[in-house]
Amino acid sequence: MPFTPIHMGPGILIKSLLQGAFSLMVFGWTQIVMDIQPLIVLLTGEGHLHGFTHTYIGATLIALVAALSGKYLSELGLKFLGVAENGSSVRISWWVTFTSAFIGSFTHVLLDSIMHGDLAPFYPFTDNNGFLGVITVATLHKICLYSGVLGGVIYLLLNKKMFS
Ligand SMILES: [Zn+2]
Repeated sequence: MPFTPIHMGPGILIKSLLQGAFSLMVFGWTQIVMDIQPLIVLLTGEGHLHGFTHTYIGATLIALVAALSGKYLSELGLKFLGVAENGSSVRISWWVTFTSAFIGSFTHVLLDSIMHGDLAPFYPFTDNNGFLGVITVATLHKICLYSGVLGGVIYLLLNKKMFS
């Protein structure tokens, strides 16, 4: 939070590299589940903006929740998007679901910890956030954007058959 979609850039790059071993849909669902807590804090004005959900322990629990809730939801989403080939529906294996959710929640904490001063990613072990400001927010956003573009290009190059 506050801008969940920037997390999709690195997700697209990871998708282009891992292909079928990674579900961008589950990854995206995980980004949404991650930011439900900050969203509630923003709306109600109560609580710690990036609280327990934005720690690596919290992200582990979020990944489990996002995977369990996201597998069938993502399969349904892909069906609506018409991604399924030959009229059959897309199946996302549990292995791919959990991998994608864990990559999703951990990269989310990592990216957010660079730009948000209230994050304590290693809580309860330390309140220190050594990642804060290692790169500027502008650079971080550029990296997220360009990684998405790069991932899109790689994906299209590796899946040339979609042009034929
Ligand atoms: Zn967040």
